Amino acid sequence: MMILDGKIVSQARRQIIQQQCLRFLSVYHRPPCLAVVIVGKDPASHVYVRNKEKSSQAVGILSKKYELDEETQQTELNQLIKKLNEDSGVDGILVQSPLPSHLSEKKILDLIDPNKDVDGFTFKNLGYLFGGNMKVAPCTPQGVLTILDYYKIEVESLHCVVVGRSNIVGKPMAHLLLDRNATVTICHSKTKDLSKLTREADLIVVAAGKKHLLRKENFKPGAIVIDVGIHGSGSGQKISGDVNPENMDGYLKAMTPVPGGVGPMTITTLLENTVKLAFRRMGENL
Ligand code: NAD
Repeated sequence: MMILDGKIVSQARRQIIQQQCLRFLSVYHRPPCLAVVIVGKDPASHVYVRNKEKSSQAVGILSKKYELDEETQQTELNQLIKKLNEDSGVDGILVQSPLPSHLSEKKILDLIDPNKDVDGFTFKNLGYLFGGNMKVAPCTPQGVLTILDYYKIEVESLHCVVVGRSNIVGKPMAHLLLDRNATVTICHSKTKDLSKLTREADLIVVAAGKKHLLRKENFKPGAIVIDVGIHGSGSGQKISGDVNPENMDGYLKAMTPVPGGVGPMTITTLLENTVKLAFRRMGENL
């Protein structure tokens, strides 16, 4: 079985991103800049933001962090987003989710300038993704495509089953696969007989957020399995995915490990999107 190693793919992509940042700096006399907004004290969110900052700095992206109190009101957050939209030195804006419950993520997604939307989550960018003229795609599903490309896995004409229909993973994933001429089935929590569908699939992307939801007997021999799930990221906990990886060797054609599969690609794609948008704002398409 081929292990689709996201760390190797990520390293290769980050070298390219680093070169692109150097070129940006030499031509435009500043590095590409990512503004990261975090509201409140959620410890996991702070860890994610720190990782994003560290990864940005490592490739030569300037990361500007805006930390707001838990009690921040919607108008204050809106004002910050508007300010960042107008700031010509900012190329990408990321608002770390989840926001405290009194704040509306939908309002924020309506406000972020699609030309600075590094996550590809704004309704305009999702519309572009579904209707053509895409600027950047959401990081996790785009990262999955990058892994498939790196390992030269063609999805055209494959039957792909996507388990999960969130706006940030499942739906854009299904659309990106469809765009590459795969035949796509989307499954979700109300799907009847999930296993019947996954057993028919040539390629399965599992993003259900349920630890070990699927195992060997849920796949046909020779299938390709992409496990997006992450469980147990607390310190000292063993990290596992939505797929139980036992006894897959010699049975599947290929599989992403957890950890070290899709996870590293999400941040790498965020860096890629930042640089892509930075160049695009200067009139260059990468
Ligand atoms: P979500 O909770 O928004 O969506 C989960 C989806 O799975 C829903 O559409 C739901 O209908 C479906 N689902 C739930 N139980 C199911 C079941 N028993 N059978 C079929 N479908 C079922 O989650 P999300 O944000 O899309 O994330 C999914 C998983 O991916 C989570 O484990 C999350 O931590 C992980 N994730 C990982 C990365 C990464 O970088 N690797 C990035 C984003 C999300």
